[in-house]
Amino acid sequence: MKNLQMVDLVSQYEKIQEEIDGAVLDVIRSSAYINGPEVKEFQKELEEYMGVKHVIPCANGTDALQVAMMALGLQPGDEVITATFTYVATAEVIALLKLTPVLVDVDENTFGIDPEQVKAAITPKTKAIVPVHLFGQCADMDAVMKIAKEHNLYIIEDTAQAIGAEYTLADGTTAKAGTIGDIGTTSFFPSKNLGCYGDGGAIFTNNDELAAKLRKMANHGQSKRYYHDEIGVNSRLDSIQAAILRKKLPHLDTYNANRRKAAEYYNAAFANNPKLKVPVVAKNSTHVFHQYTLQLDGVDREKLIDHLNDKGIPAMIYYPVALHMQEAYKDDRYGKGHFPVTEKLVDNVISLPMHSELDEEQLEYITSHVLEYINQN
Ligand SMILES: *Cc1c(COP(=O)(O)O)cnc(C)c1O
Repeated sequence: MKNLQMVDLVSQYEKIQEEIDGAVLDVIRSSAYINGPEVKEFQKELEEYMGVKHVIPCANGTDALQVAMMALGLQPGDEVITATFTYVATAEVIALLKLTPVLVDVDENTFGIDPEQVKAAITPKTKAIVPVHLFGQCADMDAVMKIAKEHNLYIIEDTAQAIGAEYTLADGTTAKAGTIGDIGTTSFFPSKNLGCYGDGGAIFTNNDELAAKLRKMANHGQSKRYYHDEIGVNSRLDSIQAAILRKKLPHLDTYNANRRKAAEYYNAAFANNPKLKVPVVAKNSTHVFHQYTLQLDGVDREKLIDHLNDKGIPAMIYYPVALHMQEAYKDDRYGKGHFPVTEKLVDNVISLPMHSELDEEQLEYITSHVLEYINQN
């Protein structure tokens, strides 16, 4: 059996090695390292895949969020609502821009932002909502869109973990995660569902005016070279990464299908076990399983992880500390007990290996050792 890893990037690479190697060498030989043709071609191909009018490539998923907030013209003191159960980047850029992060709890089944709490958190200073499509499926976008419309708020979808997921809106139309709100953002960090071999990110919008603003903000605030109308940042996807992504994008749906298959294997093995709650798939969203995350009930999580590690099986906790309990984001507005769902999740979630290359032998090995521990303790 191949060694088990949370994410097996080498096995995935080996299957398309010749194509990738050739594409990287072509960029090196062309010397078009920055904003070369590969970046423009990738942009077009991703626009087509996403079914979105504009893709703005950038340096990483965190920058994508920052550039999005800058392009919307949010001002210090403006409040931005996001979930407390997420990766730090979502709240980090809000705070960095001197906006006020307003954290809310998540749904205990889908891990998406809780629309009722979003509603309750709105004040006259609220300007935007950042739903995070956590672990690979969409937050309740119908509800979030409705709230945003009623209160005239922007929506930035953090799609770093859900590229390729599809959402069926209340009117029956489907859209890719990240193309529903005003702006969507994503990351091509190597372990994401569409990963490059370094850092990368992208921003999505269907709004022409916003697209121009996003491009300008990601390019030193200039719309014309050496003429800077606004303070921007330097955030680019480099050509080598774009060339790699062009080779990987045609495989994304297969990669996501493989993840889904692995999740189905896990689900079948863990079904009806009272100590294990398998991931709940939201009714309006497909799931691309960036993570396969179980909720444990009455299981010593640390001991389970030790047991698995002893057998050569990695397991991770995403995320062990909620944002409102992080040293840097602590706030008098929310102490311990304020967000009961998240506080339960940080103590009971566990994520098992999940990637496009898992085979049945590996899945059988992982599930049997999880069940061995669960059934004996
Ligand atoms: C990975 C991730 C990011 C940040 O992406 P980087 O490319 O690492 O900057 C932002 N939000 C979420 C939810 C993520 O998972």
